[in-house]
Amino acid sequence: MYCPVCFQNTLRIKSTGVIKLAFNGKSKNSSIFTYNLQKESQEQLIAKLREKIEDFFRFYADFQNKAPLKNFEAYAADFLCENNCKIDMINTKVSVVGVVYSVSEVKSILTEYGKKYAIDIEVNFNH
Ligand SMILES: [Zn+2]
Repeated sequence: MYCPVCFQNTLRIKSTGVIKLAFNGKSKNSSIFTYNLQKESQEQLIAKLREKIEDFFRFYADFQNKAPLKNFEAYAADFLCENNCKIDMINTKVSVVGVVYSVSEVKSILTEYGKKYAIDIEVNFNH
């Protein structure tokens, strides 16, 4: 991943941190979880993501005139540059899709819960 300061491909995710989720730019207070890449298996990490996506969808399903989900973000602020850049992580969001989770894992979870809660999923991960 590219560092936003030195623009080198030297950005690495920290082994522990916090992942936040946003759905069409919105989050619940509970749309956040910790990760530990050294202690948790991919299955455990996926289970946490599933739980938080379902938590938001269950809440969103009660809305009238639900907009389709066009934008999904899973991001962390726990990154380090190998060049020791000072990165302003308060204003920097780095996506963990393609880092902690594959695009296909995220897509399949969104699709599954979209069907369950009747929310149209129109997320484009190609940009
Ligand atoms: Zn850097």
